[in-house]
This record gives sequence, C-alpha cells and structure tokens, in this order.
Amino acid sequence: VRPSWNSRRGPRGGFVPPIRNNGGSGTTISRVTGKGDDSMEDSTRKWLCGPDGELPEKLRNLEPRLIEHVSNEIMDRDPNVRWDDIAGLEHAKKCVTEMVIWPLLRPDIFRGCRSPGRGLLLFGPPGTGKTMIGKAIAGEAKATFFYISASSLTSKWIGEGEKLVRALFGVASCRQPAVIFVDEIDSLLSQRKSDGEHESSRRLKTQFLIEMEGFNSGNEQILLIGATNRPQELDEAARRRLTKRLYIPLPSSEARAWIIRNLLEKDGLFMLSDEETSEICKLTEGYSGSDMKNLVKDASMGPLREALQRGVEITKLSKEDMRPVMLKDFENAMHEVRPSVSSSELGTYEEWNRQFGSLS
Ligand code: ADP
Repeated sequence: VRPSWNSRRGPRGGFVPPIRNNGGSGTTISRVTGKGDDSMEDSTRKWLCGPDGELPEKLRNLEPRLIEHVSNEIMDRDPNVRWDDIAGLEHAKKCVTEMVIWPLLRPDIFRGCRSPGRGLLLFGPPGTGKTMIGKAIAGEAKATFFYISASSLTSKWIGEGEKLVRALFGVASCRQPAVIFVDEIDSLLSQRKSDGEHESSRRLKTQFLIEMEGFNSGNEQILLIGATNRPQELDEAARRRLTKRLYIPLPSSEARAWIIRNLLEKDGLFMLSDEETSEICKLTEGYSGSDMKNLVKDASMGPLREALQRGVEITKLSKEDMRPVMLKDFENAMHEVRPSVSSSELGTYEEWNRQFGSLS
C-alpha cells in the first residue's frame, strides 16, 4: 500500500505525529522554567515580553496555550471598522466618544472627577451594530481589541473558562490601552438562578467579576464592553459594574437609506432615485442593520437572476448583461428577508432603557 503523500514515518518506520502548523511564521520554542511556561510561539512571546525580554509577571503563572489562544483567536489584530462605516446611531457615537475614546486617548486629563467608568453595556436588538461600535472604539482609540463570546466560555471552554478569563485579562493588561468586547454578556452575568446554576458557571462568573474589579480600581487603561440582546437577564452586580448602558436601537429610516446606498455604491450598483430609496425605507420599517444588509444582498441578485432567466449562461455573463438594481428587486427580496425583531421585543428594550439605560 503506497502511503498517502502526507503521512510521515520516523527513521524506523514508526509513526511521527503530524507537525502542527499555525499558519504563522513564528517558531515554537520550548522551555521548562518551573512556572508552567513550557511552550509559546516565539512571535507571541516577543509581542508580550517587556524590554527586558521577560514575560510580564501577570502572565507567568498562566498556561502558555491559553495565552496563545487569547493572542491568536480572541485578539483581533485588525478590527478595521471606522465610525463612518456605522449608519446612524449619532447619539451613541457621541456618548461613546466622550465616555470612552477621549479617556483612552488622554488618560492624563480623564482622572479624578473626570475618571471614566471602565464598563460599558451596549444593549438592543441583534444586528444593530453593537459589535461594529466595539471595533470602531478600538480603532479610534488606537487600542488593542479582544472579542469573546460569553456563550463560548460556558459551552466550548467547559471547566477552563476561568483560566481563559484570567489569560484574557492578563494579556489585555499587557497590551494597553485595550478594549475587551464580551458578546452575549448575559450568558455570563445573568441573574443568579438559585438552584439551577452550575457550580462551574458560578465560579466563572465570580472570576470575571474579580477581574473586572481589578482593573476598575487600578490605573489600567482597559475598557470592558458587554453586548447583549437580553439586558433584562443581567443581575444587579453586572449592572453596577457596567456603569454606562447605551441602548442601540433599530436603524432609523435615514440610517436604512444610508446602508442601502453604501453597500450598493461599494460595488458600483447604486442607481436608485431618491423616491425609490425612500419607498424602500418606508417598506423596511422594523428591519435591523443586519436585516438590511441581507436585503441588499438578496436584491442585488435580482438582475443576475433575470439575466440567467433570459438564457445568458453564467460562464459567459458580463456586467453589461445585467440591468441596475431596482425597486422591484427590493420588493421581491422583502419576501425572502423579513425583519428579525418583533415589536414586542422592542417594547422590552425600551422599557429596560427607561429603567436602567444611561440616556433615554
Ligand atoms: P450586533 O453586534 O448588534 O448583533 P453587528 O454589529 O454584528 O450587530 O452587525 C452585524 C452586521 O449588520 C454588520 O456587520 C453590518 O454589516 C450590519 N449592520 C448592523 N448595524 C449596522 C449599522 N448601524 N450600520 C451599518 N451596518 C450595520
């Protein structure tokens, strides 16, 4: 039997485990220091070490593979979202700039009475730009951006969530200013379920709160942003730590128009008149930003489908065979893409905003 080309055999024909490929150029260095520091990518180490070439104190007792995971998977090296990419939400942008970006850029001015809160909650329906805001904050404040979904902590990292949380806050504190974005934060900081709550998720929550407490009291330039579609599940302890709570609502009619124009213009497909655009906006009341994106995607398929129906072969199809995207494409797409948020859900957000939101 011919071995498959990628099977490897050792000198005596014994099995040699496949080489791990991280896709990076860094080499893996191994060392035994007695501090649990047994293997870490060279590039990660370089990136985290101080000028003395030593790993910062905070990271020494953490497992290298978790530090690796935080550095490679949770840290987003290029968040690549600017304020201008986000439609509408002018009020939220203004508040975030003042509450978060300026203090991260000028910590010397924002101290004492002006010292900012370290926890921000973005709440509202799904697909309204909460994650985009988090990324834009990191970009505008020239901060390192860490993204983690809290539900992955409880599902994927069973039994290890606490350690990962320590690694996350540890790495963030070595890469300040830093923004830690915790999506679905309700699944981590939900109201205590007196009997149903697992011991492990209780420990995870406690660890998380301890870490938050740590940078709340110090001079660290770390901002925690929690995002949730279910703010009503957060308990009092979570609310207390997330001192600013901003409602991120569905996009206004103007914001929906902006999303349509922006997405189509990027591909040179925007040919709608003002009347057609406002007609689409009228018909899309209740659509989220993400619904609008899906709608534009589907509508932009209209001219293509039509050309294929006329008998043009997909392999021979040229730009000239396709008419511009029209109002009727949007009307057709609306049968496929429906608003994902119900009006009763909206009522819940508005109520919570009235009760706990920072700015009504
Ligand atoms: P959330 O975090 O609120 O669930 P996201 O920020 O992940 O939503 O948005 C999902 C996608 O929907 C974005 O990548 C973007 O394409 C689109 N989107 C949502 N809100 C907006 C907005 N305000 N402006 C522009 N695009 C938006």
